[in-house]
Amino acid sequence: MADMEGAGQDAVAALRALLGAAHVLDDADTLGAYARSTAARPTRPRAVVYPGTAEEVAGVVAIAARLQVPLYPISTGKNWGYGDATAVTSGQIIVELSRMNRILALDTELGYAVIEPGVTQAQLSNYLAEHGGELWMDSTGAGPDTSLVGNIMERGFGHSPYGNRLLHIAGLQVVLANGDVVNTGFGHYPSARTTYLYPYGLGPYLDGIFTQSNFGIVTRLGMWLMPRAESVNHFLCSVDRHEDIGAVVDALRPLRMDGTLRSILHIGNDLRVLSGGMVFPRDMVPSSTALPDELRQRLRQQAGVGAWTVSGALYGRTRQVAAARHAVRAWRWASRCSR
Ligand SMILES: Cc1cc2nc3c(=O)[nH]c(=O)nc-3n(C[C@H](O)[C@H](O)[C@H](O)COP(=O)(O)OP(=O)(O)OC[C@H]3O[C@@H](n4cnc5c(N)ncnc54)[C@H](O)[C@@H]3O)c2cc1C
Repeated sequence: MADMEGAGQDAVAALRALLGAAHVLDDADTLGAYARSTAARPTRPRAVVYPGTAEEVAGVVAIAARLQVPLYPISTGKNWGYGDATAVTSGQIIVELSRMNRILALDTELGYAVIEPGVTQAQLSNYLAEHGGELWMDSTGAGPDTSLVGNIMERGFGHSPYGNRLLHIAGLQVVLANGDVVNTGFGHYPSARTTYLYPYGLGPYLDGIFTQSNFGIVTRLGMWLMPRAESVNHFLCSVDRHEDIGAVVDALRPLRMDGTLRSILHIGNDLRVLSGGMVFPRDMVPSSTALPDELRQRLRQQAGVGAWTVSGALYGRTRQVAAARHAVRAWRWASRCSR
């Protein structure tokens, strides 16, 4: 324990020499903020560091490797769902990448942006509104201040045809645990022109191994952008009874498989929908962690949601969307969606 504390102190001193004191914080307020968690077992980090470049990230990792101090990377730290900004175990040094928020390139012809981990949904969206011509980005339902890279590293999903985000990126730059920097796909060829277009490069395809793993710290990636859709049509189907959702999904599957539905579909039960708008009603259920059935049904009625809700959107040319809408209407009718 004493050795760990000694290594932690040495690491903080070396990190201050590398990044400057302003970017290595271990005061009680900062540590307290990063220890606040909705998880059952909150942890307290040893320090929080804010590198500003990929070279600095590599330097941070090299120090941590030398002194055997564990790191926990976050992009903007607004992860409320897959985990949160709290490190996995106490004593880790949190590497918060929000200072690295440059949009390094935008190619409006080929449809991609090269972004650093601190770039937020709102930032890229505003940038595209100004410079992106007819290009749109995929967006998640998380807030405007959440990062794109952190979400992609968690294999997050958006709501558009590009919503399976991991399948719409190319060219990761990753700092490995020994401080080496890897460029995936064609990125390791210095003059490659397809780094952000063709994710596979030659040989083994590496990108997936860095998701949900923390095997490396991603310092840059190319995110694909979609052409502005001529027409967008959202749809919802509310299913009243829990036991009917299986048949609804069975009827939906062919539309997804034959390409009628190209966007990500969201299928959530009543708890998923209710919890998006309220916290657990602890005052009404003082002694249990589960909602009693009767209260669950009452909350459902009050909120006007079914036992299950299916939502999606049609994107494309107007005639394409009209044809897809026809198929979705037939599915809704056959599935007896109540709304
Ligand atoms: C109301 C609401 C709606 C939401 N809607 C959606 C949704 O539609 N789709 C969805 O996917 N999620 C959704 N979420 C979940 C979550 O909030 C988002 O995924 C959010 O983008 C994650 O926060 P972040 O971008 O700040 O990630 P961070 O907290 O920065 O990072 C998340 C994790 O990814 C890893 N990581 C981060 N950066 C790096 C890096 N540079 N290199 C390697 N690993 C890294 C770390 O393990 C980190 O803990 C929602 C949450 C809420 C509360």
